[in-house]
Amino acid sequence: MNQQPAKPAYKRILLKISGEALMGDLGFGISPDVMTFLANELKEIVDLGVQVALVVGAGNIFRGEGLARGGMDRVTGDQMGMLATVINALAIQDAIERIGLEARVQSAIRINEVCEDFIRRKAIRHLEKGRVLVFAAGTGNPFFTTDSAAALRAIEISADLMLKATKVDGIYTADPKKDPTATRYDELTYDEALDRRLGVMDQTALVLCRDHKVRLRVYDMDRPKALHRIITGDTSLGTLVRV
Ligand code: UDP
Repeated sequence: MNQQPAKPAYKRILLKISGEALMGDLGFGISPDVMTFLANELKEIVDLGVQVALVVGAGNIFRGEGLARGGMDRVTGDQMGMLATVINALAIQDAIERIGLEARVQSAIRINEVCEDFIRRKAIRHLEKGRVLVFAAGTGNPFFTTDSAAALRAIEISADLMLKATKVDGIYTADPKKDPTATRYDELTYDEALDRRLGVMDQTALVLCRDHKVRLRVYDMDRPKALHRIITGDTSLGTLVRV
């Protein structure tokens, strides 16, 4: 008997991938293995007809805060961080196109020789055409994070679900690597995450999500098929954050 293909529970999603997630075991830069894995995971959900947008960080290359700690002007450091997200976005675009999907990068900072500018209407058009969209350069402003950029873009494109891919399978009461008694939350409200300072995302991102009723799932991106399972309605993976 033929199995029916799984039906997606969401029409349009926004996935936030940190820079650190892209470096794998390398310690710096971009791991080709991670890129291939990510592209294949994305293909599985694009093939279901889900519209996919990504926001990528740059912790694998530069973070403004770290550069400022070393003495650099913070705004210059943040600009370097934002440009580093463009590098990551180009790598993701390349990996996605190599497996036969269409992809576009839109940057919040104008850098027209390498990618498009962020234009909301154009972004939505790309998504409707089945292209994977990679949002780069964060919000385009210093002193923000790519988590805040992800919240912003999720709201702007009316994503049904925002996902945050991490190295841990959800949000815990404490850091599970340091505290063996830490337990995972199945569900959490934004106010609880804010009050308990759980470090899911920065406060700006959490407040933006709360005020605009974004549904967020934090999950372990290293787990094969996790994305497909979540998109087809499996609620047992990771932690759901809601209003
Ligand atoms: N950044 C910024 N404005 C933004 C988003 C990012 O200035 O709207 C800079 C900031 O310096 C940040 C760096 O880009 O440290 C990389 O982003 P992030 O730290 O969020 O990356 P991730 O932790 O997700 O890898």
